[in-house]
Amino acid sequence: MALESGVAVERRNLSPAALYEEAVRRDEAAIVSTGALTAETGKHTGRSPKDKFFVKEPTSQDAIWWHPGNQPIASAKFDLLLAKMERFIATHDVYTQDVFACADPRFRLRVRVISELAWHSLFARNLFIRPKADELLTFEPDFTVMSLPSVKADTSSDGTNSETFILVNLGRRIVIIGGTGYAGEIKKSIFTALNYLLPAQNVFPMHCSANTSADGSDVALFFGLSGTGKTTLSAEPSRRLIGDDEHGWSDRGVFNFEGGCYAKTIRIHKESEPEIYTATESFGTILENVVYNPVTRVPDYDSDDKTENTRAAYPIDLIPNAVLSGTGQHPHNVIFLSADAFGVLPPVARLDEEQIRFYFLSGYTAKVAGTERGVTEPEPIFSTCFAAPFLVLPPDRYADMLVERVKRHHVDVWMLNTGWVGGPYGVGERMSIAHTRAIVRAVLQGDLRGVSTHVDPIFGLHIPNRVPGVPREVLDTRDSWPNPEDYDAQATKLRDMFEKNIHSIGTSGSSSG
Ligand code: ATP
Ligand code: MN
Repeated sequence: MALESGVAVERRNLSPAALYEEAVRRDEAAIVSTGALTAETGKHTGRSPKDKFFVKEPTSQDAIWWHPGNQPIASAKFDLLLAKMERFIATHDVYTQDVFACADPRFRLRVRVISELAWHSLFARNLFIRPKADELLTFEPDFTVMSLPSVKADTSSDGTNSETFILVNLGRRIVIIGGTGYAGEIKKSIFTALNYLLPAQNVFPMHCSANTSADGSDVALFFGLSGTGKTTLSAEPSRRLIGDDEHGWSDRGVFNFEGGCYAKTIRIHKESEPEIYTATESFGTILENVVYNPVTRVPDYDSDDKTENTRAAYPIDLIPNAVLSGTGQHPHNVIFLSADAFGVLPPVARLDEEQIRFYFLSGYTAKVAGTERGVTEPEPIFSTCFAAPFLVLPPDRYADMLVERVKRHHVDVWMLNTGWVGGPYGVGERMSIAHTRAIVRAVLQGDLRGVSTHVDPIFGLHIPNRVPGVPREVLDTRDSWPNPEDYDAQATKLRDMFEKNIHSIGTSGSSSG
């Protein structure tokens, strides 16, 4: 690595153009035909939750929800790995970005991101809130994230599960990340910290997207696990985007934690996602693991050769009409998104209070898993509060904050299935984005208020009998199955999985019937 007069150089707050040059010069990334910078993340093309640990330290250890997903690591182990990181920084050129998290100035967190890779520095600049020049003059970090993929842990002496590690030290306000080049770890480590810091200030931290009507009076939140549509559905020409992934809900309303978006690009189409598509094609945007033609440099969003989880990271101002203050009023509607590969959840249902708590604590979606015999089968994913990998406190704490706010502000809560209809994966088809958007529009415009509903016998969900712009066959999941008895069996199976899961978390979420 280049040492200038024998001293490692720290490059601070470089601009996108300068970071492009650095990344290309160092062979970290390439420029594609659209003007975006494209990088490969290496072995890890997604987050690595099994490698994440909370440092067991006196200020936070009694508050942390210790469970198999929140693993402890001793302070002494953290010190060893931190020393390894510091030795690396002393002998290699690194990049620093000073940024903010939390758009509401009352809760602003000053974050310093120190990275080995120039493109990680641009990622941090794109995803977090960019301070103004004068705000940088006196910048002192509240929290520091170090991302050094070349620093690897030794499982025998460092106490980690692999050479990859993400260690969150809430007492010292430091996160150290090694052995992975997946940039999403950087943003989600700060989200984790905020899940600890904000409840103490009476702010509810949420893994959700948010948008509002043109006049700002009608805010909606979209909760959901990965791939369920938070980013896709919150970018909508008739609405203004507040943020695509992480928000806080305070006494004054909601605010974005970030200043950028991290969109999936796999099989993205200009027609169904025009705003995101255009942002993906802009100078300054980072593409991760997108295949491109080495000669023409034209990106191929349809290719999953490197991973299914291809991404674009860009500043939120690339989305037309985004709310640049990153803040909004108390929401009128909250939407839980699931991509149900079992194909049994209704495209839309309105939740009563008990169901709100139950489905929030369940945090359900499903994916399609291949079996040994080459048969694809749906597999449920339950991630409590739609955010299990980022929760610090016990799930009931977050569920209480949601239910309290929903009641106080008379919020309507809905559950949407953005997954499969007309049969399970392999038989039915994924809901079209156009139909899901029509449902969201109907919900937000209040079109479903006067519509009669029926209660499904298996989940007890209240399903509207009619949604403008959505055909009947799409709305009635059971009727859309080739054989409705198969539907009953599959739905019963999924309901039993929900029950088993809610008991396993050991929370107060009671059965939804
Ligand atoms: P993450 O937490 O990983 O960022 P996310 O909830 O933001 O996930 P999106 O990026 O919105 O998820 O991904 C939804 C994906 O599903 C997109 O690739 C989108 O094109 C696709 N999709 C297909 N059908 C639908 C639908 N009916 N509604 C929403 N998205 C759909
Ligand atoms: Mn997203």
